[in-house]
Amino acid sequence: MINLVLFGPPGAGKGTQALYLAKAYHLVHLSTGDILREEIANDTKIGHMAKDIICRGELVPDSMVIDLIQEKLDNNPDANGFLFDGFPRTVPQAEALDTLLIHYGRNVSAMLSLEVSKEELISRLLNRGTSSGRSDDADRTIIENRIQVYNEKTAPLIKYYKDAGKYESINGIGTVERITERLKKCIDILPRHRKRH
Ligand code: AMP
Repeated sequence: MINLVLFGPPGAGKGTQALYLAKAYHLVHLSTGDILREEIANDTKIGHMAKDIICRGELVPDSMVIDLIQEKLDNNPDANGFLFDGFPRTVPQAEALDTLLIHYGRNVSAMLSLEVSKEELISRLLNRGTSSGRSDDADRTIIENRIQVYNEKTAPLIKYYKDAGKYESINGIGTVERITERLKKCIDILPRHRKRH
């Protein structure tokens, strides 16, 4: 059983790679960005609270995403493993994830960090903005704010997972296939953990 955190700044290619990896390793893919966009589309109370925050490129409160993740873990007790995409994004979220996973007899196997330069990120996001319909991808100021939020609040997670011996750096530049190969090479040598009951 493996539980992976797919990590990287906005535009690093987490969503694209997550689809391939979830399929290849039979993992439940949990993207907090996707879950929040679904809440917005369904016009829920959470969606209402999250909408403006997402439009500004800020982070929604930790408690909101932690509760959403907990619900998904509850709903998938027999999962082979989870692939976390866009979560955790702050140190308190990472601590909460560790606590939650212990409760389910699991743990984070590795944090796979996709490394991409800032210039490449901005150009990828502006490109995505024209095709994805995501308003937070279409505006350069919002994109730059998201990258700044990443540097301030999310990048400290690299130290968190390094200290836990779980940080793996992966070159995020190249074709989608080539990057998938690099990720798989890394995952295939990770120790598998048995689920404790
Ligand atoms: P993403 O699709 O991962 O780029 O997420 C889109 C937006 O959703 C982010 O810019 C945040 O506003 C919000 N979001 C997604 N995941 C989280 C998280 N783990 N913590 C806080 N905000 C999040």
